[in-house]
Amino acid sequence: MTNDVFNTLSYGMYAIGVKDDHKVSACIVNTVMQVANTPNIVSVSMNHKNYSHECIRKTGLFTVSVLSEDTSGAVIGALGFNSGRDTDKLKNVRYRVLAEGVPVIKENICCWFLCRVVTSVETDTHTVFLAEVVAGSESIKRKPMTYDYYHRVIKGRAPKNAPTYQEQPPVSETTGESWVCTICGYVYNDPYVPFEELPDDWVCPICGAPKTAFRRQQ
Ligand code: FE
Repeated sequence: MTNDVFNTLSYGMYAIGVKDDHKVSACIVNTVMQVANTPNIVSVSMNHKNYSHECIRKTGLFTVSVLSEDTSGAVIGALGFNSGRDTDKLKNVRYRVLAEGVPVIKENICCWFLCRVVTSVETDTHTVFLAEVVAGSESIKRKPMTYDYYHRVIKGRAPKNAPTYQEQPPVSETTGESWVCTICGYVYNDPYVPFEELPDDWVCPICGAPKTAFRRQQ
């Protein structure tokens, strides 16, 4: 079987807000889905290595902010490609903290909801948390960002801890020369527009890093 079959599965893009004893943090997932409606239960799959996983285990609480097509790729870069264990991922991201202490992202999202974990299921690498939705938005704004939109329009990719991560083909099998963002790992490889010909004010579409943060892939 080819792993490409999994590329036919549809997903959305979500920021998961968490807290631990001392601080708030957030990460990006594509794995939120509603699994029941009386009461409203959602599931989210998260890698055991993620700092957010540790926080949810500890507190049993998280928020879901549904990203929209207007949410900047820089927000996804800041929350999706660093670890909250050693960095303040929310430093340059607008958010508010709910009374329960967990953050909700305010970067052009569609809506948000607060979840309390009721049970979980383990795999070798990921935990699937099942959680009851206990509060949330009264209205929906904007168009939700799908995982397909993230790949096709923003040119994003899945980080290593995502369940949908797949090994990238070696550079020799791609066309043109590849340049890698040293901040988020985004690979620029457009055979029609060489990296050198991009304008000086061009920035990484994922994390917003300048051209100078890119290195030629060997
Ligand atoms: Fe980047």
